[in-house]
Amino acid sequence: MKVVIIGGDAAGMSAAMEIYRNDKTAEILVLERSDIYSYGQCGLPYVINGKVAHTDELIARDVETYRGKYGMDARIFHEVTAINTQIQIVHATDVNSGEAFEFSYDRLLIATGASPTMQDWENRDLQGIHYVKTIPEMAVLMQDLAGTEHVTVIGAGFIGLEVAETIRARGLKVRIIQRSAQLMSNLDPELAKMVLEEAVKNGIEVLFEEEITGFEGQQNIQSVRTKKGSYATDLVIVATGIKPNTQFATGFAKLANGALIVNEKMETSIPNVYAAGDCASHYHRVKQKDDYLPLGTTANKQGRIAGLNIAGVEQSFKGIVGTSILKFFHLQIGMTGLTNEAADDLNDVVEVYHYEANDVASYYPPVKPMKIRMLVEQQSRQLLGMQAVGESGVDKRIDVFATALFNAMSFEDLLDLDLAYAPPFNGVWDPIQQAPKRYGKK
Ligand SMILES: Cc1cc2nc3c(=O)[nH]c(=O)nc-3n(C[C@H](O)[C@H](O)[C@H](O)COP(=O)(O)OP(=O)(O)OC[C@H]3O[C@@H](n4cnc5c(N)ncnc54)[C@H](O)[C@@H]3O)c2cc1C
Repeated sequence: MKVVIIGGDAAGMSAAMEIYRNDKTAEILVLERSDIYSYGQCGLPYVINGKVAHTDELIARDVETYRGKYGMDARIFHEVTAINTQIQIVHATDVNSGEAFEFSYDRLLIATGASPTMQDWENRDLQGIHYVKTIPEMAVLMQDLAGTEHVTVIGAGFIGLEVAETIRARGLKVRIIQRSAQLMSNLDPELAKMVLEEAVKNGIEVLFEEEITGFEGQQNIQSVRTKKGSYATDLVIVATGIKPNTQFATGFAKLANGALIVNEKMETSIPNVYAAGDCASHYHRVKQKDDYLPLGTTANKQGRIAGLNIAGVEQSFKGIVGTSILKFFHLQIGMTGLTNEAADDLNDVVEVYHYEANDVASYYPPVKPMKIRMLVEQQSRQLLGMQAVGESGVDKRIDVFATALFNAMSFEDLLDLDLAYAPPFNGVWDPIQQAPKRYGKK
């Protein structure tokens, strides 16, 4: 069986390894448009503050390993430009020489991820305007940061905040420009206030409800222009969103943003073509529909499932519940399930619980408070979502709640969970059990 995989990172190579392990007769050809395989994009922000000494440390397996140890035909600088799904052929181009290639396949996996997007702002090709997405982009950014005093980050989602923190750690001045009225638009407004306080405490200037119109400068960026004013800066990082890399895949069923719609086996709407990761849809168990939440953890899982099915081992991707976490200076910001906005779309009445709890027993210093927001469906008592912000212990509570959500547990069921307890770890009633204890139905 000839398997062609487009994209040599998280989803693509998770699949490749499963095919290698489960079907020793499979011929695996990987087409990757860059020259870097299998690296942790999630670690890129931490190269900026030196927590990760070099981008090489982010590479899990290099291309030579895939070729030598696993016998895969792992190509570099091969960009796929079109697929003929009728005759099962992939068209690719060598990005350096321009030479064109055709490869036939029995099974094809599209694992091309997503690319950062920037609106059609004026002068967006000035030097000093960056994305944080790939290792080569990071190398240019690190060079530019060397002579820089002031950085503007556009967008205050996960990547924007991580980058703002790590640039601040280098002693540079940082400004965040955000279109909405809070940092992290999908966070509950009460919790987002804590994030803003943390930004201000750490010397970050934050501008809200600003709409960018363009950039000013001769060759290099000198200022960012918005509808409200012009703001001097030496360097800009754009973190305003991403778009799935699926333009070359025509005739497929796609979500509105271009992500390829896949079923639980990672099959697309075209026979023998699979998709996984940031270029694919993600079935949301709470919403009970296809969604798009591009994360590394999901890309690895979907890649694994795609690889197993391609190799003839039937497996299903069970879906996501929308779990994520972020460190921002001293804060941990975690969420799982529905955002307030998504809950507003439900026909059912949603109960919202806001409360504060301690990470450890109240008599075991240092005690760090965390703010929690839980969403529960009023009639069925079904858990819908949780967000938490605090200095410690957020990850554990989010993960327990995510597990409960995954298993469709009710608000009152949380009370029965046999969670680990000792004073250095929590109170006798863990923070996530305090809400059902106080407000749950008897
Ligand atoms: C700065 C940053 C921080 C992040 N932090 C986190 C985090 O903390 N937690 C988390 O869960 N996720 C995080 N993510 C998201 C995570 O990195 C992605 O979800 C994950 O990399 C997606 O894997 P993928 O294989 O689907 O796509 P990618 O990793 O983007 O890989 C796709 C590959 O396909 C190649 N390609 C694209 N088009 C073509 C083509 N036409 N022909 C050939 N090759 C092509 C690309 O060069 C690329 O190598 C972060 C992302 C970034 C950028």
